[in-house]
Amino acid sequence: MKREELLDLFRRCSALLEGHFRLSSGLHSSGYLQCALVLQHPQHAGALGAELADRVRDLRPTTVLSPALGGLIIGHEVARALGVRAIFAEREDGALRLRRGFSLSEAERVLVVEDVVTTGGSTRETMQVARAAGAQVVAAVAIVDRSGGTAALDVPLHALLDLALPTYDPAACPLCASGAPIQKPGSRQVAVGHDQ
Ligand code: ZN
Repeated sequence: MKREELLDLFRRCSALLEGHFRLSSGLHSSGYLQCALVLQHPQHAGALGAELADRVRDLRPTTVLSPALGGLIIGHEVARALGVRAIFAEREDGALRLRRGFSLSEAERVLVVEDVVTTGGSTRETMQVARAAGAQVVAAVAIVDRSGGTAALDVPLHALLDLALPTYDPAACPLCASGAPIQKPGSRQVAVGHDQ
């Protein structure tokens, strides 16, 4: 899938929003990607998962690990295409952990799957969950890399779409300075905080 095709898919699904958003990294941005609006269509989720799987098949991952909630659906689809299992880490008392009886062994080659990488923070944290269990992390993949190449992971990061939308420190955000309310994607209500 080419860059323009992907952007077109995001636009058709109203998943590429413009406004004033607070990202989960704490940064503000004029653009927001709501991947769930693409992934709500199983045929799109399946196609994106298959394409990501093709990028890393040679690395022979044995397990997909995703951070909840954003990485769940795409992680499942990547795992389906690779023929491996998909597990997820969840936040508990502020830290990502394996719950629900999920476990990793030292022999496993873990692929971390995200929907969107913004700073790389949650990707690094998910990688640490795998490494703490003794597993090896072979790569990370995401549908969209918003980091502009700054995610600085110590494994390869493959994304279907590089989209470096501008982000701002809240203290220096021109949108805040202009008085623009922080918007919740998909609604006209003012809200503070949502995932991404
Ligand atoms: Zn702002």
